[in-house]
Amino acid sequence: MDNEEVSRLLERYPNGPKVYFQTLGCKVNSYETDAVRILFESRGFRTTTDPRDCDVCVVNTCTVTAEADRKSGQMLRRAKKLAPRAVVAAMGCRTEMRKAIDEADVCVGTVDRAGLVDLVISRLFERSDDPDSVLTNEHRSRMAKFEDFGPVISREGTRAFVKIQDGCDNYCSYCIIPYARGRSRSRSEESILHEIRCLGEEGYIEIVLTGINLGAFGKDSENAHDALTRLLKKAESTENIRRIRLGSIEPQMIDEAFVRTIAESSKICRHLHVSLQSGSDSVLLRMNRKYNIKHFAESIALLRESMPNIHLSTDIIVGFPAETESEHRESLLFCEQAGFSKIHVFPYSVRAGTVAADMQPKIDSATKSKRKGDFLRLSEDLHIRAAEEMLGKIVSVLVEEQNHGMYSGYSKEYFRVIFSSGSVFESGSEAQVQITGLSDETLTGIAHER
Ligand code: SF4
Repeated sequence: MDNEEVSRLLERYPNGPKVYFQTLGCKVNSYETDAVRILFESRGFRTTTDPRDCDVCVVNTCTVTAEADRKSGQMLRRAKKLAPRAVVAAMGCRTEMRKAIDEADVCVGTVDRAGLVDLVISRLFERSDDPDSVLTNEHRSRMAKFEDFGPVISREGTRAFVKIQDGCDNYCSYCIIPYARGRSRSRSEESILHEIRCLGEEGYIEIVLTGINLGAFGKDSENAHDALTRLLKKAESTENIRRIRLGSIEPQMIDEAFVRTIAESSKICRHLHVSLQSGSDSVLLRMNRKYNIKHFAESIALLRESMPNIHLSTDIIVGFPAETESEHRESLLFCEQAGFSKIHVFPYSVRAGTVAADMQPKIDSATKSKRKGDFLRLSEDLHIRAAEEMLGKIVSVLVEEQNHGMYSGYSKEYFRVIFSSGSVFESGSEAQVQITGLSDETLTGIAHER
């Protein structure tokens, strides 16, 4: 890792990562701890006296007596307990004698202590991509495999959800999910297709493929590169299933093969929820998102080239730590240009145990709520613009509710539609509806044919 890369990565800790020192043994050890402290501080770390609130814990060990040896091991284990996400570094005599100490993440003995800072920096940032390094053995075995419950009927209205993946390896700086759910793992294609077939037999015509990070589906299997597109094609040939939706996706999964699969499909709905979180590159970097706005814009352009009628929605976090007014404006402008048909807005809230929890300065509630208001107004305008484009069109509506000749449900483009009809439509059936108007955020129309 070169210096430029290190400084860029350290920007994720606006005030520097916090390092806590614990020393056992003699005065020489104390001296050496001070020397190492200076080395850490010269690289942008700050010393903390709170072992519960550190990013790195350095234990300078001793082995002069059995008791000192035992206590050193105890300190290392205690450090892991008090700050489970911290990098635990062992140095000193006990480390030298034992060489590899399994209680620590990184070790140096009684030589090359200067190299400890580099080892810690690598480990600290490796963690962003390596959930294994922060999980206990118990977690690892519990979270290594997809827990398959067999066919499950999980529904919301007339849609049934099919879970295809769990866990996440992305480590966005504000998100606790990778710690709580562990590494990404996928459900087997066979099991997923079996569940979809069961849902078709139960009479469901719309399914939503869900997961924590859908883009990671199949990455833990052979033929990882086209696992999702293969699954989509097979799901499409399931009898009775007429609509397939995807849960929230990350922009990285939009490539030519993915776009082609949707464009060639008559069942995959022309609506995608592509998670953006911020339209400002500097905020995206602090969020540890794995793309920039140029990449995001290219991804959605690729979708629209093949499917000009596709509708896109997104999520935005407002008031992320240190978000400036100009970053907020940049984000608004990007969302306007991207032409989403809906923006879900979330004010940032601190999640203890995440990297962002330590980022400063935090944005005050009044500013967050003003920024949220800015995005909600934009979302409303964009939604109305997108809905107006639907006027006069005939859309397919999956009926959810009926009330005295009035029906409501969602179109494939994910617009809520209320329509009237002289014919009777059961909940769960599809109706062709001519769109004639717009009321609030809902399209209105008349059933075109049965
Ligand atoms: S926000 Fe999503 S992609 Fe990022 S770490 Fe959390 S679950 Fe993973």
